[in-house]
Amino acid sequence: MLVLNDRLTLNSPVSALPKVRPLDLKRLGALGIKTVRDLLLHLPFGWEEFGEPKAIADLTDGSLATVTGTIRQIAPKISKYKGLRLTQAVLVDGADDELNVVWFNQPWVAGQLHRGDRVALAGTVKATRYGRFEMRNPHHEKLDGGEDAGPKNIGGLMPKYHLVKGLTSKKVAALVSAALPLAEKLEDELPEDVRQRHNLLPLPEAVKLGHKPETQHDWSEARRRMGFAELFELQAAFALMRASMAAEPAEPIPYRQPVIDTFKEGLGFELTLAQRRSMWEAFQDMARPTPMNRLLNGDVGSGKTAVAAACAAMAHDAGMQAVVMAPTEILARQHLHKFRAYLEDSFPTLKVELLVSSQSTAERRRVRASAASGHCALVVGTHALIEEDVEFASLGLAVVDEQHRFGTGQRELLRAKGKGRPHFMAMTATPIPRTLALAQFGEMSVSVIDELPPGRTPVETEVVAPVDRDRAYELVRNQVKLGRQAFVICPLIEESEKVITRSATAEFERLRKEVFPDLRLDLMHGRLKDKEEVMSRFVAGQTQVLVATAVVEVGVDVPNATAMMVEGADRFGLAQLHQFRGRVGRGAEVSYCLLLADDPSESSLKRLNLVTRIRDGFKLAEEDMRIRGMGELLGARQHGMSDEAMQALQQPVLINEIRAEVERVRETDPGFERHPLLKAAIIRRLEQTSIS
Ligand code: ADP
Ligand code: MG
Repeated sequence: MLVLNDRLTLNSPVSALPKVRPLDLKRLGALGIKTVRDLLLHLPFGWEEFGEPKAIADLTDGSLATVTGTIRQIAPKISKYKGLRLTQAVLVDGADDELNVVWFNQPWVAGQLHRGDRVALAGTVKATRYGRFEMRNPHHEKLDGGEDAGPKNIGGLMPKYHLVKGLTSKKVAALVSAALPLAEKLEDELPEDVRQRHNLLPLPEAVKLGHKPETQHDWSEARRRMGFAELFELQAAFALMRASMAAEPAEPIPYRQPVIDTFKEGLGFELTLAQRRSMWEAFQDMARPTPMNRLLNGDVGSGKTAVAAACAAMAHDAGMQAVVMAPTEILARQHLHKFRAYLEDSFPTLKVELLVSSQSTAERRRVRASAASGHCALVVGTHALIEEDVEFASLGLAVVDEQHRFGTGQRELLRAKGKGRPHFMAMTATPIPRTLALAQFGEMSVSVIDELPPGRTPVETEVVAPVDRDRAYELVRNQVKLGRQAFVICPLIEESEKVITRSATAEFERLRKEVFPDLRLDLMHGRLKDKEEVMSRFVAGQTQVLVATAVVEVGVDVPNATAMMVEGADRFGLAQLHQFRGRVGRGAEVSYCLLLADDPSESSLKRLNLVTRIRDGFKLAEEDMRIRGMGELLGARQHGMSDEAMQALQQPVLINEIRAEVERVRETDPGFERHPLLKAAIIRRLEQTSIS
């Protein structure tokens, strides 16, 4: 047992723990772990049961096991295939049975273990073709005791922590062990009565059981408590944010029926019921003397732009300006066209302008002047809007499209352009289930457009077995022959040694040389400098096949693109696949989306088949949440929440109960002044996450 430095406190930096190297600090920091408290509150997301050491002869294929023995052979090697650096070894146990061992990407293991060393290994057992067992990347521990000394740090029940490259669960577990005595000192931020009512463990106990459970039940109860508390803190934080927002004045934008009548007349189509409902919700918000803070959540193509345009028209009628910020220049330009088409003919005094950084200095100066004088009613643009410090004569409404692409700071800068606070609307094409929206964007009101305009041809979606890849290429080729364009989506940018999947870069080279040598291909991924140029070439129809990573997810409108192939489709979430699919099917022609799985197992095919059957993005997002919630919650960190919190959301009623509990506390203590621990936790959370 380590003797704890008695000056170690919950607020000590993790560097105060034994054996923490500077590199570990950086890695822990990447997981949001800076202090001992952070470390303790970071529970493992799962467990591996390696059990007690076993004889090699008793191993079974596919099981997790611990073995002890002597290294008979060990050497670093470079694999022929892809030149991977690995360490190969043979372990022999007391019965003289041999086990093959290989560590990929860990050449240093060959320097740590030597021939003749007694070691313990814990890992997954695989039967090889040669009738032997093998372990790949097992945990290892050198044994120094006598013949039957067992391992101290590996084997048995081993926690799985969220990791970043270079950090192992073993390392985290060792740090946690050193810090765990301090769990006693963790003060419970949950009000006692809330905890009692929901039958939740006190915090110190939850932390201890969460890191060192004896039973499955211990662990799930620990997680339940942590998930609940996290959602509770978030909702409490949202309540404070809503309250502070409601205390700020905003210029009301009164609702006027003639404006909406004129707007509708000029559209050339009938608004859907969901669009009208969302407009109405926004109009009511804007008519108040406190700022609107609304999230407009609608699937790709559901017509969010028209809703924003109607709001801009209403603002204009009240003598105020509006601004719309989009994440890329292409999107900003597409917006410009739509807003002009929706507004300029119907409202002769309503001028729409564009501001992006590629414009000439003179043009940008002209637009800035037009905004500052109040001459133009609506400015559409990119980050340039905040970078160039555009000023408005009287900004009444700020809209952010694809809001997840902007940081909170950027959104705030845009909102700061009003005299008071402008009304604010964020648009997102990522369908978010209601429970998740409440948990994640609880400071906002949410409007949902859960209906597509009529007359859309659904995208024909199909799961294609990897062996039928040629058929998929055939389809792409045929579409291109018809003058159309296609996307090929790959999960990674570059070949990775760990994951055997298609990378955009390698796939681009291969397709260009071997499959479509006669077509015009292009490559797009997040690390490219000239993303916008690549995209413009595609929008202009110069590129026939665009090989890309997930970056094409966001709302670009290329009606001529009718085919999409998704490689490694099983590696994406269902909602994300749905987003990809939304890149095609935007024109009058029939479009196709082909999903290829790296892992054609039954469960992954079942999951992918949901995408072929379900067209409603919200339903898919719910399915996604349900399915992923059961296993590893891949989406959790993407949503800025822990797995525990995501798991808690599996019970959709819980979020309402939590909101009710927060309100109950606020009835007597609106600012949480009499709940200092809770208040401190809220502040920590606001500092940690992007919601502040
Ligand atoms: P998104 O919600 O993805 O931003 P857009 O606002 O770009 O969707 O709309 C997608 C397309 O559908 C546009 O061409 C738009 O003009 C059209 N559209 C929007 N609403 C309707 C409607 N009610 N009926 C028919 N077409 C519509
Ligand atoms: Mg859009």
